[in-house]
Amino acid sequence: MPYPESTTVSTRPGGPSPAVLPAAPQPERDRGGWLRFSPVQPFFRARAAQRLAVLAYHGVTDPRSFGAQLDRLRRLATPVSLQAVERAISEGRPLPPRSVLITFDDADRTVLTHALPALAARRIPAAAFVIAELIGTDRPFWWHEAAFLAQHGGQARSLSTSGRPDQLLARLKALPDPDRRRTLHELRVSARRRPPGQEQLAPEDLRALRAAKVAIGNHTMGHPCLSRCDDATVAAEIVGAHRSLTQWLGEPPTAFAYPNGGYEPRADSVLRGLGYRLGFLSDHRLGPRLPVHPLRISRLQVDSTTSTRRFDTILSGLEPAVQRWRRHPDGE
Ligand SMILES: [Zn+2]
Repeated sequence: MPYPESTTVSTRPGGPSPAVLPAAPQPERDRGGWLRFSPVQPFFRARAAQRLAVLAYHGVTDPRSFGAQLDRLRRLATPVSLQAVERAISEGRPLPPRSVLITFDDADRTVLTHALPALAARRIPAAAFVIAELIGTDRPFWWHEAAFLAQHGGQARSLSTSGRPDQLLARLKALPDPDRRRTLHELRVSARRRPPGQEQLAPEDLRALRAAKVAIGNHTMGHPCLSRCDDATVAAEIVGAHRSLTQWLGEPPTAFAYPNGGYEPRADSVLRGLGYRLGFLSDHRLGPRLPVHPLRISRLQVDSTTSTRRFDTILSGLEPAVQRWRRHPDGE
C-alpha cells in the first residue's frame, strides 16, 4: 500500500503552498522527536547502517533547517548519488554502509533556490523528479489549483456531495483519471477567481541542477494517480515526460518516481521498455543496500522543517516503524 502522504509530515503531495492558497496544516517539526531517547533507537540505528535510506523531500521551505539536516547527514551517513545507486545495482555490489540518497519530488523552484546552494556547499549529490508538463510554465500543481478553486466557489458534479474541504484531495485522487480531469475543468469554469501562477523550473534550470550534481528524473507529464489511469494514459504520461526530458537534457533520464508514491505494475513495464534503471516509491521505509527490485526502491518521507531530533528517528527507521505499528498494530 502506498504510504498515505496525508499522514506523514505533510498533508500535500507537492511542495510549499503559495501564501494565497488554502493553508495546509504545517508539519509538526518535532512530532515523535522524543523517540530519539527510546531505548530501541540504538538498535534501529545499527540496523539502519546496513540499509539504504532514500530521502523524499518536496520543496525546501526552511533552508536553515535543511542545512542542519545535511550537516547531520554528513556526520551520520554516507551521501550517495543516483549514479552510485545505478552502479551498485549493475555491478551487484551493495552500497557502502549508511548510504543516503536525497531526492525531491515535484521539484518546485525552491529545489533550485534553496536546496541547491545548501547541497553544493556541502558537495552532496541529489536527484529531482519533475512534472514535465509544468516545466517552463507558471502553472500551479493541480492539487493546489483544485484547493484554491474549491475555496473560491468552484463547483463540480463529482464533488457535489458534502465533504470536508480537507478531504478534497483524497476525493480527487480516488476518481478515475478522466473524472479527475473533468472535475478540475468544472472547478476552473465555475470558480470566481483564477488561481495565482506558480513559477516553475525552466529547461535551463534542469540543466543547471544537473551540472551541480542534482540528477533529473521522470515524474510523469501531469502527476495523475497512475492506478486510476487506463493503460494508454499510463504509457503516455511516462513516455511523454521521457521525450521532453530527453530533449531538454540531451540524454534520456534513467530514474522515475511514482506520482503519489504507489507502485504501479503497468508503469513498471513501460519503464523497462524505455531502459529505466531506478524507480522510487513513497512507502516510508528503508531498503536493502543492494536494491532487490530496482524499479521499486523504498523512500523515507522527510520535510525541510523536520527537527534534527525527529530527522534522526526517521533516518534510523524507528519513526516509520512506529507509524506502521500505529496503523497496523497486529502487523502487516
Ligand atoms: Zn509528486
